[in-house]
Amino acid sequence: MTETTWVDGAAGSLYDLDNLPYAVFSDATQDEPRLGVRIGDHVLDLGAAARELRPEWAPLLDVAALNPLMAAGPETWAAVRSWVNDLLSDESNRERVTLHPIADVVTHLPFEVADYVDYYASEHHATNVGRIFRPDGDALLPNWKHLPVGYHGRAGSIVVSGTDIHRPAGQRKAPSDDGPTYGPSQRLDIEAELGFMVGRSVPLGQRVGTGEFAETVFGVTGVNDWSARDIQAWEYVPLGPNLAKSFATSVSAWVTPLAALDAARIDLPEQEVPVLPYLEESNATTYDIDVEVELNGVVVARPPYRTMYWSPAQMLAHLTVNGASLRVGDFYASGTISGSEKDQRGSFLELSWGGKEPFVLDGEERSFLQDGDEVVLRYSAPGARGGRIGLGEVRGRILPTL
Ligand code: CA
Repeated sequence: MTETTWVDGAAGSLYDLDNLPYAVFSDATQDEPRLGVRIGDHVLDLGAAARELRPEWAPLLDVAALNPLMAAGPETWAAVRSWVNDLLSDESNRERVTLHPIADVVTHLPFEVADYVDYYASEHHATNVGRIFRPDGDALLPNWKHLPVGYHGRAGSIVVSGTDIHRPAGQRKAPSDDGPTYGPSQRLDIEAELGFMVGRSVPLGQRVGTGEFAETVFGVTGVNDWSARDIQAWEYVPLGPNLAKSFATSVSAWVTPLAALDAARIDLPEQEVPVLPYLEESNATTYDIDVEVELNGVVVARPPYRTMYWSPAQMLAHLTVNGASLRVGDFYASGTISGSEKDQRGSFLELSWGGKEPFVLDGEERSFLQDGDEVVLRYSAPGARGGRIGLGEVRGRILPTL
């Protein structure tokens, strides 16, 4: 890729031609949401460009969700990306396309979510949580290195970055309490994760192998899996999280296509326990994505995605190994990203060690989220042009219980 973009300020930025993420946006003058592509600090109006220049693609691009493009398959994904690259690198297109300053647009949930599964793929996170929740038992349960543990989340409460989050209420019972009480969560937390969007339908009974990742997954988003730890600790035995997670899950407005992450592919850390054949991969890879967790404007952690134990392809293969179907818009998330170091932990549960070791923010001791707090997760990765690409942000502010 040697072309240079004609868009002012975009060359060398986090949103240069090697990135080109998608969003669904609207602007002040035309309020029908449609697809856009980010270039520098601008949004290319992809819906309008398709309408005027490639009408055969308008049903995929001049629409309010990424699902039709995702369903069109990998050859079309590559063709559209190549066309967008041409539009933004050939100066003769300057007068043919519309760019909106990013500050002037509103972004929407970028895809219609079908089913949602949340994994638990970080060994450091699972070990930390095991030690905090089950201090007298083994940190990792016996199944953990044999399969990517996960649970089915709630697709309908996935919201786009920027959506305010009302503090959930529910049942909670501390070990010292006589019985449960109902009320606002006192231990509201974040989980910094990465999410994968499925762009392919597969019928019941047809398994998807680890080698089919690139033709099945369209792209990635940042994810904040908001979690009410007090509700979770009381409800999760023996079937796992339910209401502690289902009140809201935030995703980034910008969807990074897998093609933009080619330069970020790295070897998966070695798995010391052999896996069953359906989880085996030749040349298992993962992504070298850096995450920043910001609380009220201060970076409090830098979780590294490269340290995750299970690969994105293994999590995909596990989804269908029982014969379950896939639908376009299915979404699976990695689970909390935590590295080996204390300042690499992707949840406040771990950063404050269950509230026992509060961390200091602006001179104040903090453990869990307070009303008015704002959390921003930022993601970046190596790009194909030698610099870095931005994967957008996941922003959310905590409001009191409704
Ligand atoms: Ca999670």
